[in-house]
Amino acid sequence: MRPLIIPFFIPHAGCPHTCLFCDQHLISGEQAALPSAELIAATVEEWLARSPGRPAEVAFYGGSFTLLPQSRQQQMLQAVLPFLATGRVHGVRVSTRPDALDTATLDFLAAHQVRTIEIGVQSLNDEVLQRTGRGHSGQQALEAIQRVAGRDFAVGAQLLPGLPGDTKAKALDSLQGVLAAGAHFIRIYPAVVLAGTGLARLYQQGSYCPPDLEQGTQLCAALLREAARAGCPVIRIGLQADDGLVSGQTILAGCWHPALGHLVKDELFFELVLRLSEQLPTADPVLVHCHPQRVSEVRGHGNRNLQRWRQAGIAVSGVQPDPLLDQHHVRLEALTFCFSGSWLTTY
Ligand code: SF4
Repeated sequence: MRPLIIPFFIPHAGCPHTCLFCDQHLISGEQAALPSAELIAATVEEWLARSPGRPAEVAFYGGSFTLLPQSRQQQMLQAVLPFLATGRVHGVRVSTRPDALDTATLDFLAAHQVRTIEIGVQSLNDEVLQRTGRGHSGQQALEAIQRVAGRDFAVGAQLLPGLPGDTKAKALDSLQGVLAAGAHFIRIYPAVVLAGTGLARLYQQGSYCPPDLEQGTQLCAALLREAARAGCPVIRIGLQADDGLVSGQTILAGCWHPALGHLVKDELFFELVLRLSEQLPTADPVLVHCHPQRVSEVRGHGNRNLQRWRQAGIAVSGVQPDPLLDQHHVRLEALTFCFSGSWLTTY
């Protein structure tokens, strides 16, 4: 059963930086002050009551948790302790910057039963980090992941491909770097230009253009494939579709779609069938078989893969579930031939 994540957003709180791409108020959809201990306790009770029996975690997202005054961190973490003590909540996770995770900070978090730390790495490339005003180096991010992974924490790395100065090769290098440093899971947020940010100024001046939906989807697909090859889960692709992001005024440009994760997985199957079809001896219609849980991704969001294959001259007559296939495989069948392959290994 997937854990219930009870999120508290701490927009921009604790953060003295102004990264070019960031407006945590817009991203979280909240303008409120930090949650009080009372609010945290009441909210956790409410969420637990709505999902009885489901394993739950409390998450403090947004901002840079460990840059808050320690008394405020303590206040929020202590509000969760009674739930941890009774086993009603199984863990606490926080997100923060790579340069806000020294040994004393990790000691403090461990003492307050934080189990998961998500690090906003964004990129490991120093030029990209410098151009986006991150204020730390790639090496610092690597060392932070190693330091956290070397303790009894789960560590996640957030990557933000497509920032100024970034390329597909640099984004893949960043992914390989965080995997080698010991990240246990990844989040991928392709660059979007939010109104009111430094990135928006560059975009409006014409000196920066983020990957569009198609480019970003392909970039995320390449990253997802590499992470999967390394056995590292990608737990999120793209920003959440909350009110602040679907108003139509917040995002000026970039790779955003409410079902971006679906589009990215579609892309892997689209490309796989395209590659396998190069071996087809005839133009006969083919039936594509896949794991039952992957049928929707193989067909594509709104059947877009079926349409794209047709446009590419591949006559796919349908998509059939086959529980014997693994989650990455497809098998193409027609009257006289059969090919199979996996997006992990075929291309
Ligand atoms: S460090 Fe994080 S919260 Fe602070 S400005 Fe940068 S992205 Fe936003």
